[in-house]
Amino acid sequence: MTNKPNILIIYTGGTIGMVKDYKTNALKAFDFSQIVQNIPELQQLNCNIESISFKEPIDSSNMNTQYYVDIVEVIEANYTKFDGFVILTGSDTMSYISSAVSFMLENLQKPIIFTGSQLPIGDLRTDAKENLITSIEIASVRKQNQPLIKEVCLYFEYKLYRANRTTKISAEQFEAFASMNYPALAESGVHLKFDEAQLLKIKENKDLTVRKKLVTDVVILKLFPGITKATVEAILSIQNLKGVVLESYGSGNAPNETWFINQLEKAIKKGIKIVNVTQCAGGSVILGHYDTSIKLKNIGIISGLDMTTESAIAKLMYLLNEDLSLEVFKYHFQKSLRGEVSEK
Ligand code: ASP
Repeated sequence: MTNKPNILIIYTGGTIGMVKDYKTNALKAFDFSQIVQNIPELQQLNCNIESISFKEPIDSSNMNTQYYVDIVEVIEANYTKFDGFVILTGSDTMSYISSAVSFMLENLQKPIIFTGSQLPIGDLRTDAKENLITSIEIASVRKQNQPLIKEVCLYFEYKLYRANRTTKISAEQFEAFASMNYPALAESGVHLKFDEAQLLKIKENKDLTVRKKLVTDVVILKLFPGITKATVEAILSIQNLKGVVLESYGSGNAPNETWFINQLEKAIKKGIKIVNVTQCAGGSVILGHYDTSIKLKNIGIISGLDMTTESAIAKLMYLLNEDLSLEVFKYHFQKSLRGEVSEK
């Protein structure tokens, strides 16, 4: 028996898990069951590490909600045995996946750190080792005999973020993610510095509840100047559509042409929930701030405030599961459930 924290690495796929076969020069999957042997640096960490790999690791572009469920089920099955979890996925959809996982795990009391890399772990210039090692270190941090972090985070290139506040911003830079509307939770320099005031505080000491039902009858409607009536009509008449993330301009603005407003109003009357987030990288929707958002407010569009698109779509999938009235839905959508939104 040791007092070292037990950390579980869950590998789902993505670039991080690749090594170069120097004979053929091709990238091939890395055997994560041998992770500690293959990355000797991990032995220096003050924790016990185990790993689980998806049978068929996937590129994160192939992610869907069934995989989200697979991830949370691994966490659920191992929740009492481990003190922290490091989840490796491809970076392309990591913000979507980790946002959804944050909603699916209610009353989380342990750290879940998502990470990945831009270059494979077997590449000479890889960013994978630092991302992986520091994520494990972060997942192991304890304070007064309790995990310091009790939320779903994303670690990349020396910064720890609240996962449901992140967006992938670069396909080239090692610094691939940003959290425009919420500060980083920690920075890794010579020391690992946490901004403890920003960490999610758990109000009650309840048991973990895992919510596995997500509604996928949703769509993201990104506005652009010139969008036609036919396009909007086609999207809003998708069979069984239950929710829309409307990506609007600036602080939540959209055309105030009658055909556009009428289409949205018709959809809302059919029971479709429409939430408004901004296309801007940072800032918040403020409905009614401009003339071009007053009508949206009046017909029952819900402000997504400063939520990211990734978080808004995940939250829609999660909340649509309950058959809520527009008012009740709005209340929950605008409330911070996992720190994903700055409440008004
Ligand atoms: N296409 C890869 C993925 O998202 C890129 C990465 O691993 O970062 O799975």
